[in-house]
Amino acid sequence: MSGGNSGGIVSESELAELTKLFIGFEGATDPLCPECRNAKRAFHLILREIYIQRVRPAFMDIDYSIFASLTRRICRARVSKEGPAFPCPQPPAPDQIKL
Ligand SMILES: [Zn+2]
Repeated sequence: MSGGNSGGIVSESELAELTKLFIGFEGATDPLCPECRNAKRAFHLILREIYIQRVRPAFMDIDYSIFASLTRRICRARVSKEGPAFPCPQPPAPDQIKL
């Protein structure tokens, strides 16, 4: 849509940044810890700005919650491609425990 980049409303660098923040709260074992809450707040701050500046003017019928869940889905796909990273301290996965 905007000339030159990978084609979406959200640029590649924005997506990279959003995905980094997304990893910081999505799937957290303790989503209410300060780190997760900060990551989530930062994620939505960026998203809301993009929404107000570029989504709402172009797509009147897409409301923020739709845009946010769409973006989360994209981030989730990127995370699964780049490998998971979870914000909270994780217990070792069962297959990493050697008995
Ligand atoms: Zn947490």
